Amino acid sequence: VEVASAKYPARVARIPKSEQLEASEDTVEVAPGVLRVQLPINFTGLGHVNCYVLEDERGFAVVDPGMPGDEPWADLEKAFARAGLPLQRIHTVVVTHSHPDHFGGAARLRRETGADIVTHRTFRLMWSTAEPDGEDPEEEARPFFTPGMSTPWGSEPFRPELQGQTVEEMRERMRLETPRPTVRLDDAQTIRLARRDWVAVHTPGHTPDHLCLFDPAEGVVLSGDHVLPTITPHISGLGEAPDPLSEFFYSLDRMTALEDVNVVLPAHGITFTDLHGRVQAIKDHHAERLDRLQKASNEIGRPASVNELMQRLFSERVWGQMAESETYAHLEHLRLLGQADSHWQRGQLMYEVA
Ligand SMILES: [Zn+2]
Ligand SMILES: [Zn+2]
Repeated sequence: VEVASAKYPARVARIPKSEQLEASEDTVEVAPGVLRVQLPINFTGLGHVNCYVLEDERGFAVVDPGMPGDEPWADLEKAFARAGLPLQRIHTVVVTHSHPDHFGGAARLRRETGADIVTHRTFRLMWSTAEPDGEDPEEEARPFFTPGMSTPWGSEPFRPELQGQTVEEMRERMRLETPRPTVRLDDAQTIRLARRDWVAVHTPGHTPDHLCLFDPAEGVVLSGDHVLPTITPHISGLGEAPDPLSEFFYSLDRMTALEDVNVVLPAHGITFTDLHGRVQAIKDHHAERLDRLQKASNEIGRPASVNELMQRLFSERVWGQMAESETYAHLEHLRLLGQADSHWQRGQLMYEVA
């Protein structure tokens, strides 16, 4: 323990956020009839994913069963064995959205247990490679984005690396593990889990297909990545929505309209109770980003590329195409509000914020 004094100012230690902590081996009852099992992941700085288990007379439903692949599957088997929950009793897999740390285990669970896979109506992988086979017409839709395609703001072809894997490698693995939803929920539709009815709340923003579930009987919200306890979810400019940030704001406001919320169960990090406070903090964060973009653009004093503005918005350790994508989403939000102009110059989209 270091004691701060005038002579020895306290060293600023980086305290890990709860979303970044390693998976705990404990099984915790986080709401009536809802257990939390944590699965280890190492994905965009996150240490675990919360897999929630909702028990009823038929067995149980699980929410967000972790990453695809053999190693995560072994982790899932271990975690459920430790919790005394036989995988064979899983009858439903709920996937909050189309990111691999959430849908990863779903296809295999269905193969092994015959469980239903429940998603929002619009569920679709960003790099969807599902072979159109006529089984599920919604999967035949063209992918949002193909690796190697130039970004909408004209920088280098989009090739982020995740966990040291290229998108092509990731995609190859995901093709084997792409879940085919058997139940696609519409907004406001209910689903019976843990012996009570949960209301589907479509919350686009982080992804277009993000789904939260609300249990009005016990005041429980399964918030996925939409509202996390300390970090803000990535808002990507790569989807088909013209203004994903607006959609995100709208989806945040919908959270505050839920009445008598007792506990929020996020996909990463600790449970929390102050949903309104958290929503406001996330909105403030983005308002501050928009403000900083305006100031940066004014300082530069000429049209600037997304990459140049990204460097003013993010700290250097996160520079890259994910940060560019988020910068682009903020710039398009301002442009559509009439507060920024853009034009193409030598293959780059250039922005100037008023
Ligand atoms: Zn996500
Ligand atoms: Zn996530």
